Amino acid sequence: MVDDHAAGPGAGQVAVITGASSGIGAATARALTAQGYRVALLARRVDRLEQLATELGSGTLAIAADVTDRDALLAAADRVQRELGGADVLVNNAGVMLLGPFGSEQREEARRMVEVNLLGAMTATEVFLPQLRQGGGDLVNISSVAGRTARAGNAAYAATKWGMNGWSEALRQELQPDIRVTVIEPGAVATELTDHITDPSTKQNTEQFYAQLAITAEDVADVIAFAVTRPRRMTLNEILIRPTAQPG
Ligand code: NDP
Repeated sequence: MVDDHAAGPGAGQVAVITGASSGIGAATARALTAQGYRVALLARRVDRLEQLATELGSGTLAIAADVTDRDALLAAADRVQRELGGADVLVNNAGVMLLGPFGSEQREEARRMVEVNLLGAMTATEVFLPQLRQGGGDLVNISSVAGRTARAGNAAYAATKWGMNGWSEALRQELQPDIRVTVIEPGAVATELTDHITDPSTKQNTEQFYAQLAITAEDVADVIAFAVTRPRRMTLNEILIRPTAQPG
């Protein structure tokens, strides 16, 4: 078989990215492919994934998988093992940010954020862990500035990202030295993330804030690609990436 991905530090390695149909996930797929990785793209919007897979070339898998559906993740892991030989990198990126005042009206959105952002990442990790353990792997968890600072109006979202940070630090200790754990904490990044906010004034304020200063998904993807291509003797455990103009 001709290997289109023979060049670069990721040559011979496989990266699985959840939430790869847009934003940071799609940009990360492009950045890792440029480093020589073969990538498996996971998300629910499979048409988007297939388009991206076509762009990235042979050796790229587009797999429909909702991270709240463990059976779908198990099937995805099975395909990655059979068709790509197993995952070396897992990027837990799938997420939703349904900001708004905490209360009963938001209860379904709060639950969904916990199920996707936190439990989804945990499930994808336990499912892919046996593959990551084969020969040393990388676990990259996309947290947020909201994993370090909590604000009025982001309670449930912040809970998911603070949870992710605590979980990641415990995993770092548990899995070293075989698996490196890296937490990425972006500030405002221009993606589709804010599109799904339902609270009208929160949506307007958030979109205004993002319009002023948000960085690009590629900015974050470059950092992720840098982190996973460091020599195995070192790990970038926690990376906070704010737009230069973002105050908090
Ligand atoms: P996008 O909305 O562009 O991307 C979110 C991705 O998550 C999509 O690919 C979406 O795919 C996927 N997704 C959502 N729900 C599920 C699900 N149930 N199962 C599988 N995939 C799902 O936003 P971003 O790129 O900005 O978000 C990526 C990550 O970055 C998130 O974890 C977010 O919290 C984090 N982040 C983003 C920041 C920002 O300012 N943009 C700042 C800090 C952190 P699909 O709908 O096709 O399933």
